[in-house]
Amino acid sequence: MSLLVVDDSAVNRRVLEATLRVEGFAAVHSADSAEEAFRILRLNERVKNTDIEIVLMDVLMPGIDGFEACRRIKQAPEFADLPVIIVTAMAERDSIEAAFEAGASDYISRPISRVELHARLKLALTVRREKAERQAREAELLEMSRKLEAANRQLLELSRTDALTGVANRRSFDDTLELECRRCRRATHKITGPEHLSLLMIDVDHFKAYNDLYGHPGGDRVLTRVAAAMKAALRRPSDFIARYGGEEFAVILPETSPEGALMVAERLREAVEELGIAHAQSSAGPHVTVSIGAASSNMPEALGLMLAADNALYEAKHAGRNRTHGVSCESVV
Ligand code: GH3
Ligand code: MG
Ligand code: MG
Repeated sequence: MSLLVVDDSAVNRRVLEATLRVEGFAAVHSADSAEEAFRILRLNERVKNTDIEIVLMDVLMPGIDGFEACRRIKQAPEFADLPVIIVTAMAERDSIEAAFEAGASDYISRPISRVELHARLKLALTVRREKAERQAREAELLEMSRKLEAANRQLLELSRTDALTGVANRRSFDDTLELECRRCRRATHKITGPEHLSLLMIDVDHFKAYNDLYGHPGGDRVLTRVAAAMKAALRRPSDFIARYGGEEFAVILPETSPEGALMVAERLREAVEELGIAHAQSSAGPHVTVSIGAASSNMPEALGLMLAADNALYEAKHAGRNRTHGVSCESVV
């Protein structure tokens, strides 16, 4: 354990040092002034690069006195934890008060008793060690809660993602559609012109036949590629694609008119066709294709919009597949 004794009197210093050695404190540094103490502590370097664990500080010294020296040490953030014990000859209430006001952790009055010195040093060290332990525990807890938060975020992300295709899953779709319906209805009430929310329901054509011919793992790869191609064909950050289930996908298009929705649907349909994935058993063409139903409304309800989009999809299927069909639902002017 390392101590710093600050005292302008050489005799006082020697007495204290000797007492401390007897008490088993090996490394004792000493300073004959506050300035010298600052130098030993490297107070002005703004980095704590000393192994000194306790300072014993005399009060009456020429130049900077012990109270002021204590104040300056405790002001440095690097030394906020360093216990400074004021050694005073004046045991009156005033000087004790001044010591604590200056940030001292304790005081000892002269003449120094060995037993008292020992007790005070032990107390200071215990307090310091406990504080360090508490801080370490707090830091550990903070780190743990940070990790937990990250894990939770990841878990939430996973719980909202379709494992096969990497796009949003059904659950995430349901939440988003509900949210966007509400947002759209609110906007329609507020703005002068009506604003539309559009929904696309997308179904891969003759996909059962694809699986039968090329195998289920091959079918899985197709779903992944189809999802990626459609996702890449969406341009607005608010456009949202999800795997609705099986070989069906759904796309939510906020602030998109019926005409706009059909344009996007056509772009998605083309993007899938352009993948050029061979499908020898499709009546719709030589490649894997999708049929898309679009529904738009300026006063949307999730269920109504879904049913409308599903009907439109049915129309697209019926008309020969690999095509898009759109409907506009109820409107408020
Ligand atoms: P349609 O053109 O009328 O849509 O015909 P379809 O065969 O695509 O439609 P249907 O609903 O009869 O069949 C859907 C098929 O999609 C059934 C199943 O073989 C396949 N499928 C559903 N989910 C998955 C999946 O996760 N992986 C694979 N590989 N196939 C799937
Ligand atoms: Mg289907
Ligand atoms: Mg299908």
